[in-house]
Amino acid sequence: MPSNKLMVEAIEKGTVIDHIHAGAGIKILRWLQLLNDHDRITVGLNLPSKHHGYKDLIKVENRILTDQEASELAIFAPEATVNRIEDYKVKDKFAVSLPKRVTGVFLCPNSNCITRTEKVATLFKLENNKKGLRMKCHYCEKHFNREVMSKVAF
Ligand SMILES: [Zn+2]
Repeated sequence: MPSNKLMVEAIEKGTVIDHIHAGAGIKILRWLQLLNDHDRITVGLNLPSKHHGYKDLIKVENRILTDQEASELAIFAPEATVNRIEDYKVKDKFAVSLPKRVTGVFLCPNSNCITRTEKVATLFKLENNKKGLRMKCHYCEKHFNREVMSKVAF
């Protein structure tokens, strides 16, 4: 896709998150707190995609997504690919992969969970089954849909 390639190459340094399923782009912008800094961000919503019909794309200048952020990204956009750009070149390109567990990132939605009162890092195990992606709290052992998850305030 030449037009797509152009978008990737147009930045000197940063990250291009591609192949996000249409509709998830805005959520990812918020989740990764991409709007909190003053980096230039280009967002494409409902772009035509060969494989999924439509896709969202996010291009952030001067910010290289960490591996931790890439695995958080996988929870909300399992089909996404991450391109790390340096010196106008794609230095690193990979498909995100779903982590088996996530520590210290998500707040447990259960207000009776011990992690809400004790100072312990939350731990969620990810389970992908017929019901879709579910996150199981290690402490209260309740299952949650990813849509109800929020981030621990640091
Ligand atoms: Zn819990």
